[in-house]
Amino acid sequence: MKHTQSEILHEEAQKHIVGGVNSPSRAYKGVGGGTPVYMKYGSGPYFYDVDDNVYIDYLAAYGPIVTGHAHPHITEAIQDQAAKGVLYGTPTELENTFAKMLKDAIPSLEKVRFVNSGTEAVMTTIRVARAYTQREKVIKFAGCYHGHSDIVLVQAGSGPSTLGNPDSAGVTKGTASEVITVPFNDIEAYKQALNVWGNEIACVLVEPIVGNFGIVEPDPGFLEEVNQLTHANGSLVIYDEVITAFRFTYGSAQQLYKIEPDLTALGKVIGGGLPIGAYGGRVDIMEQVAPLGPAYQAGTMAGNPLSMRAGIACLEVLKEDGIYEEMDRLGRRLEEGILAHAKKHHVDVTVNRLKGALTVYFTNNIVRNYADAEATDTKKFGEFFHLMLAQGINLAPSKYEAWFLTITHTDKEIDQTLKAVDYAFSQMK
Ligand code: PMP
Repeated sequence: MKHTQSEILHEEAQKHIVGGVNSPSRAYKGVGGGTPVYMKYGSGPYFYDVDDNVYIDYLAAYGPIVTGHAHPHITEAIQDQAAKGVLYGTPTELENTFAKMLKDAIPSLEKVRFVNSGTEAVMTTIRVARAYTQREKVIKFAGCYHGHSDIVLVQAGSGPSTLGNPDSAGVTKGTASEVITVPFNDIEAYKQALNVWGNEIACVLVEPIVGNFGIVEPDPGFLEEVNQLTHANGSLVIYDEVITAFRFTYGSAQQLYKIEPDLTALGKVIGGGLPIGAYGGRVDIMEQVAPLGPAYQAGTMAGNPLSMRAGIACLEVLKEDGIYEEMDRLGRRLEEGILAHAKKHHVDVTVNRLKGALTVYFTNNIVRNYADAEATDTKKFGEFFHLMLAQGINLAPSKYEAWFLTITHTDKEIDQTLKAVDYAFSQMK
């Protein structure tokens, strides 16, 4: 497979765009290097690159494209709206329609607000929680990504009672000192953090199903205990459902686990591929937000008609019967096939899967927190990634990401993918 045109474009990109990419995860740093493939167009589960190579896509744009590329219903909605204007700066009925759809699907959203990205959504929930509780500190779980606002670019200190260190240059020590990081699925560490920082804690930020060090489900009872302990401490629970909402079911992880947070951040899938974020939750908390309350949040593009139309169209597609069951069935086929080929070729592999999303870790250990994911074999993953790419299978270029199925993948694509896995593993001795 040749990538001549991608190489030319990437040379050019590096002259103009920092690092040649507009989001660092698009570079192939996590897979031992290489030129990122420049895609020309997508259709259903397929990608076509600038060198006319074809790929089955499991990136799904890091999650949003659950309906496959260029879904006709969403494309039509975008085209129709584009002809009527893409940005008004006034309220539209579309915002009401879409807000109601989200509230119907996720009942804990008593009131919502639209923003433009997951980063904005999470950042604002923290501000609102601080305004409501009149407290400043935030607990998060190690390895969970919540966007790139300063407060969440902080990693673990050396223990649960230690404050965090900035994970990025430009984040102040002052900001880092407001964040406590504890291991996911470790309720004792969480209790300890609450004991140490007690009534300084405004909120805890939870990915109810982790998507950012691979797919990691909460241990049974973990979310319930987090809720109970947090509320007993007078703090708020924020769910970051930027990846999870409408990925596993029509609705969110809250429905899967029958549990409700105080505030929820949304993004990705709800925009049907267009830029979007949203946050919402309990009405008394949401009333902290301007113009009703003292917590300020605004946006020129917020609730823009184009993203609203794409989002509404996307949810209309996802409402159809049987969609999530089918992604689950195909996900199971992938998981079982990958494990069988790994066994045949004596490759150590652990697959974490929930319905149509899975992560292949090169390890024979279970992965239930960030340290487990970090300890998996990065070099092997890089090798596997390139072997798959060369056979026309587009995965996310990082061992910490998930493979995302879309509603357009079928048995045919799964068969072809498993054939590629078989060959890749055979080369990985
Ligand atoms: N939260 C989670 C759980 C995410 O996975 C992401 C993006 N990967 C974000 C927040 C940030 O969203 P965005 O990239 O739209 O700002």
